[in-house]
Amino acid sequence: MSKFIHQTLPHHHHHAIIIPCPFQGHINPAIHLSLRLASIGFKITFINTQFIHSQITKAHSSEPGPGPESNNIFSKARESGLDIHYITIYDGFPLDFDRNMNSLPFLEGLINGFVDHVDELVGKLIEKDDSINCLVADTFFVWPSIIAMKYNMVHVSFFTEPALVFALYYHLHLLQQKGHFGSHENRKDIVDYIPGVKSIKSSDLPSLFQNSVVHQLIYKAFQDVRKADIIIANTVQELEPETITSIQEKHSFYAIGPIVSANFTDLTIPSSLWSEIDCTQWLDAKPHGSVLYVSFGSVALVNKEDILELAHGLMLSEVNFVWVLRFNFLGQDEKSILPDGFEGKVKDRGLIVPWCNQMKVISHSAIGGFLSHCGWNSVVESIWCGVPLICSPLVTDQLANRKLVVYDWKVGINLRDGESITREEVRDKIKYLMNEEISSNLRKTIAQVKETFYSALATNGSSNVNFNKFVEELTMKISLVREH
Ligand code: UDP
Repeated sequence: MSKFIHQTLPHHHHHAIIIPCPFQGHINPAIHLSLRLASIGFKITFINTQFIHSQITKAHSSEPGPGPESNNIFSKARESGLDIHYITIYDGFPLDFDRNMNSLPFLEGLINGFVDHVDELVGKLIEKDDSINCLVADTFFVWPSIIAMKYNMVHVSFFTEPALVFALYYHLHLLQQKGHFGSHENRKDIVDYIPGVKSIKSSDLPSLFQNSVVHQLIYKAFQDVRKADIIIANTVQELEPETITSIQEKHSFYAIGPIVSANFTDLTIPSSLWSEIDCTQWLDAKPHGSVLYVSFGSVALVNKEDILELAHGLMLSEVNFVWVLRFNFLGQDEKSILPDGFEGKVKDRGLIVPWCNQMKVISHSAIGGFLSHCGWNSVVESIWCGVPLICSPLVTDQLANRKLVVYDWKVGINLRDGESITREEVRDKIKYLMNEEISSNLRKTIAQVKETFYSALATNGSSNVNFNKFVEELTMKISLVREH
């Protein structure tokens, strides 16, 4: 029998288009949000780019279930009664264009050309089905308000990162005026004038501001978000109260996190862009809490020197580890950068994989720590699993996320203070974190923050209440739009 019978659910007259930015860390939460909305009766049309779709299809082609034939990553969800439609869109580049190695032209395309493809597709969708009344688009797009207005849809902006990062991007102009960004010699002192952010070190500000394409994207996207009807974010009210309250003074903003795969449904939707290596058997053979998981996410480029220092640090630390080393990410096989004989030397205690199912790995009882680039999903997933972090942020929001992890919530330690890392520092930080006695305070604190996460999603928890309020406001706004 169907698990969900959408016709009987309260919101079956709502039809939302959901469109994530074409990156792993944006697609995952958008999928979970889609499932959640569909479970209360929303009809969802989920749009992935053709490139992302072909990556997911290739990555999952050997798995049982929805392979390339089914052409729909949501087929299991549909079988269980959720009304989720899945379509793809051209992103302006050929399928074999290397978007990661050519990130700047790709981002430029997203800023300038992508809106035309969206316009054309949404126009066609609405021609066929005039029940579409809501657009849930990633905050990092520069065009959602234009499309929502043109097609008379309520515009929900989905921010997949914490409120702190939202506040910083939102006030980019202030950072520029005060000289912390955009000048030749940016100020290096504490930033204490961003509404809702008591203080932040200049070294914790999102990087890449100086890059003109990224700056343009963020600037335009955060002009556009000002016009959104509702903003929802993957964070938790209790964990960022002042920042959230401050944003709420200007916008309808709901903290509905943590959004992770495990918190809503046991459905697994294929979403990885690369084939997942199953680490379960290897982890099963390792003692409880003895394995460090190391990953730098799906986009960040780790330089050769850092990979070398990390490898040496891992060797010196003598702990067990699973290291996600995405192949061909530096335009060469990462394994060839590793120190001579590295794999042989660590063969009994180290597993190197090109990609894995991260949630499955870090929720394994053998995992005792996560050395992370602090991508927001990784942070959220690690806290969800109660795994303390070693933070080695590289770019963009990762630096501000590190502030939350290390200095505000105290659920992790910092690895990268300077520009580069050294093998001795890597060794020392790993030894500190993986020694359960020494890091016991950190473990107690993360257990509390994990509890805050779980409580937020309980029936009367803040995120659940916020989610319901969000849907209520959306319903009201949809009815207003319909009257026009
Ligand atoms: N991830 C995964 N397997 C891996 C590495 C990462 O499934 O081997 C997932 C991870 O669970 C997370 C996403 O990829 O949901 C990465 O998002 P995050 O925000 O942490 O970093 P980004 O890739 O955006 O820098």
